[in-house]
Amino acid sequence: FFSTSEKMYKIKTVLVGDISVGKTSLALRFVNDKFDESYKPTIGASFISKIVVLGDGCVVNFQIWDTAGQERYRSLVPMYLRGAHIAFVLYDVTNPESFTNVSFWLEALQHHGDMVKTVLVANKCDCESIVSEEIALSFAESHYLQFVQTSAKTGENVDLLFHRIGAKVVEEM
Ligand code: GDP
Ligand code: MG
Repeated sequence: FFSTSEKMYKIKTVLVGDISVGKTSLALRFVNDKFDESYKPTIGASFISKIVVLGDGCVVNFQIWDTAGQERYRSLVPMYLRGAHIAFVLYDVTNPESFTNVSFWLEALQHHGDMVKTVLVANKCDCESIVSEEIALSFAESHYLQFVQTSAKTGENVDLLFHRIGAKVVEEM
């Protein structure tokens, strides 16, 4: 498998955003390459991980923390964000309110204070977008966020999302 002498980078990755934007689906698409159409709110602490080899040969263990229904109360427990390297802030392109609430989630991340690389993720891009892509992109630029459009359903850009930001984190570790 991997040689034991090889350094493995552990990257704590957190998913934030409104309920039903596709956080759990995105994590499961990345880790298991599967998608489930039925909606099951995440209950209880959820943690999954995946080891991948990045383009430059770096071995990375993405430790992905999925909210355990905390988004319902809009209160992320500090433990959830503590020590995170990457935060994906998701919205659902078919749900404008979830885009409006991105500001709230960014604030929650800022309160936490740690250096965390943040990506604005426009999920459900397999569907017709109601949120303007142009507005989302300029919002991302003005907040110095990267912007990636994904579909947990088709898998579009899901690997790219993790690999690209993972490489940036490793560079600075
Ligand atoms: P969470 O509450 O943010 O964890 O959202 P879920 O991952 O539970 O997804 C909520 C609903 O949206 C489920 O019915 C999913 O099947 C659906 N969903 C998630 N991602 C996508 C996507 O990329 N495209 C489409 N069409 N549906 C999605
Ligand atoms: Mg969930």
